[in-house]
Amino acid sequence: MKYDLAVLNGTVVVPGVGPQRIDLGIQGGRIAALGHSIRAGEAEEVFDAQGLHVLPGAIDSHFHIGIYRPHGEDARSESLSAVAGGVTSLISYFRTGHNYLDKTGPYREIFPELLALSRGNFWCDYSYHIAPMTTDHIGEIEWLIDQGVCSFKFYMFYKGLNLASDSTQGKEYTMTENYDLGHLYELMYAIERANRGSKTRVSLSLHCENPELIRVFMLRVQREGGTGLKAYSNARPPLSEALSIEEAGVLANSTRCPINLLHLSSGEALRTAVDIRNRYRGADMALETTLHHLTLSYDVPEGLSGKVNPPLRSAEDQNALWDGVLRGQIDTVVSDHACCLRAMKAQELWPAWPGFGGTELLYPIMLSEGMWKRGLPLERVADLLAANPARLFGLYPLKGAIAVGSDADLAICDLESKRTVTAANLHSAQDHTPFEGLTLRGWPVATMLRGKIVWRDGAPLGNPAGMFLKRPLGRGAASNPG
Ligand SMILES: [Zn+2]
Repeated sequence: MKYDLAVLNGTVVVPGVGPQRIDLGIQGGRIAALGHSIRAGEAEEVFDAQGLHVLPGAIDSHFHIGIYRPHGEDARSESLSAVAGGVTSLISYFRTGHNYLDKTGPYREIFPELLALSRGNFWCDYSYHIAPMTTDHIGEIEWLIDQGVCSFKFYMFYKGLNLASDSTQGKEYTMTENYDLGHLYELMYAIERANRGSKTRVSLSLHCENPELIRVFMLRVQREGGTGLKAYSNARPPLSEALSIEEAGVLANSTRCPINLLHLSSGEALRTAVDIRNRYRGADMALETTLHHLTLSYDVPEGLSGKVNPPLRSAEDQNALWDGVLRGQIDTVVSDHACCLRAMKAQELWPAWPGFGGTELLYPIMLSEGMWKRGLPLERVADLLAANPARLFGLYPLKGAIAVGSDADLAICDLESKRTVTAANLHSAQDHTPFEGLTLRGWPVATMLRGKIVWRDGAPLGNPAGMFLKRPLGRGAASNPG
């Protein structure tokens, strides 16, 4: 047999090209042929995609496996919800300190532990972005790059935790000293050095919110007795994002460190990010937004279920972010998935844990709210969810492409299928969703990982077979077995 699997009669959305009425021949987990001449008799197995669209498997490049729950268990349930939504690779953030593994120490010891906890528990392929929290961690960047980590993270607002009334509180949280702009400068300096001569883009992702402003705005809101998500947005206002983006931009321009501005949540944050990108020409800055900032506002009926950092904003902010997506200012759309159970959300605003899941809705939301509602072309959907994150994070073109030699990672979608989101019909372990009641048109019906169907018609097939993606992935090298 020429092929292990053939995907016939579908409309293939080739990133950078657009929808094409072509067939795919798959062999050894890779795409071996695209064209009109593939016949059913040439393949062991045929997937009839008549009436369906074949898109590249999504790469959810902002994820938080294990932040609130045991790592292996969280990997299993949340990567299952990822493949249910056509996601075939995810890149999860990890740091030492409170949450996650609740410990600090060298990544030389902790990273192998993280990989051991991951092995055998992922339904999709996976990789990690790492946050260097201490000066010693900055010294481990080269070692981490050798382990397949080419993206790092800094949290601008953690400095605020050290400024809280109880100054030991912050230290307990980050388990580190001097987590400030000085640390950020050293981090950017080290990453820029690592970038020289590197085969791939080595970058720093930034959570941009300014802690000093959050401190005073939060006190104001608390004094006024604010309780809902609008109060939460006022306590961490867009101004705090904008100031923090400016600070990051100045340092990135000075050090020439490539950066990723994460989860832009407001029109003001987007305008500031676009502005610094224009101002500092030659600096490498990628812009990200999330499903929830595009789709939900602080008036969401589910209330505290939707508490997240940065907060949900106004309907005008949603429109501004969509405008940025349509104009091509935004490079990636992600879920920022963090499985956070209802019990952790508490009854009150301030003690509720931030974050929630959404990975399963990446394709449904971009197809329904993007393509159907706003005319976002399908090839742009494929760029935002697959090709762009693959290029930014060292996975392209083995991932994020539909081309001869690429992994056969596919999301096969029925653009007409209409479904209303409920916590019960999502496949995450999370027992609530702020997306409850949203009716979306355009859902994946099957997900293929390296040529194997891992999800079809609402149920998983086989066992978790996700591999650790040691980045950068070479064209010749297969994904490394996890
Ligand atoms: Zn996040």
